[in-house]
Amino acid sequence: MERKIETKCLHLEEDEGDCNHYGAISYPIYQTATYAHSGVVMSIGYDYSRLKNPTREHLEKVVATLENGLNAFAFSSGMAAISLLMEIFQPGDHIIADSDLYGGSIRLFRNVSEKNGIQFTSIDCCCENIESFISENTKAIYIETPTNPMMNVTDIAKTAEISKRHNLLLIVDNTFLSPYFQNPLDLGADIVVHSGTKYLSGHNDTLAGFLVTKRNDIAEKFAFLIKTTGAGLAPFDSWLILRGIKTLGIRMEKSQENAMKIANWLKNQKSVAKVIYPGLPEHQGHEIMKKQARGFGAMLTFQLESKEFALSILKKVRMIKYAESLGGVETLITYPTTQTHADVPEEIRLKNGITESTLRLSVGIENADDLIYELETVFSETERELYG
Ligand SMILES: *Cc1c(COP(=O)(O)O)cnc(C)c1O
Repeated sequence: MERKIETKCLHLEEDEGDCNHYGAISYPIYQTATYAHSGVVMSIGYDYSRLKNPTREHLEKVVATLENGLNAFAFSSGMAAISLLMEIFQPGDHIIADSDLYGGSIRLFRNVSEKNGIQFTSIDCCCENIESFISENTKAIYIETPTNPMMNVTDIAKTAEISKRHNLLLIVDNTFLSPYFQNPLDLGADIVVHSGTKYLSGHNDTLAGFLVTKRNDIAEKFAFLIKTTGAGLAPFDSWLILRGIKTLGIRMEKSQENAMKIANWLKNQKSVAKVIYPGLPEHQGHEIMKKQARGFGAMLTFQLESKEFALSILKKVRMIKYAESLGGVETLITYPTTQTHADVPEEIRLKNGITESTLRLSVGIENADDLIYELETVFSETERELYG
């Protein structure tokens, strides 16, 4: 019987019956840069930790299993993973990218990848006709679903059909849902990207990134590039991510349950102009999500009636922290305009609907009553201040 994902987060089937590591339940941290050779021109399987380290390798196997991939590669951050991914392309190659990506990905594409000769077209992959933007040199489609921060949902299987028909790579950044809720490789994607800093780590304490693929030819390229460019995740950080993954299931379930409660609470506030959460039936992607994912996640975006209201919330929150990042056990609130999307040109930001009254919540695993009590307090104090 195929094991369920909660179990896969804890046990690596292929290592069972292996009595190495003195029976340690927690995988050891191999804090070593190099390895003694077993003989002349012989290797124990590990030669130098930039190429391969047992702790990192164990983590990579766990993540590959969670995404139903063949291979996973662990990097020092999500951006390190995406930077390395760009190295499989050549100058002159063209990539169709969603226009509402993580701000750091947009910054990388515009400022680094374009300089290296890669061309990008930004479109709303959820809702525009992707096929009409494909040209002779198009090599890939790069999406996030749901997107950051506007939570647009793209049909992965449909996009995969288009990419197969034109012999393109479909790349999906699966950070927002984590492998617990969504597995893009099963829906036809070629490469999955993760910022492991977020749900996989889950504790707002470590940076990491992943590339996962089912394709041998792509895995070989990644293995060569990781050895050559050196952005592999350190042994201790690999161990922290392994520890985080053990509770991925219960964290995702709890934070999703909290997000649903908060979304419904926000909907009833007169100072909230719009709540964007895929778990709400009126959301653009609700039905697609039901088909392609096992949950709606715990990220939600909402628009206040004014910029002043939004800024006041950021100023007043106490338990909920005004901070960048997402996917940890602590609830965080973000102001995309000056934080995650500060480097995205204003006209693109506004076109995507990110205004100065837009806030994003990464809902954590606190008790929902405490989160809502804090929001209630902050909202009523703001209303009193602004309207007397
Ligand atoms: C945070 C994030 C990244 C970048 O990852 P880092 O670990 O911060 O480098 C990429 N994509 C998405 C969707 C993210 O949220």
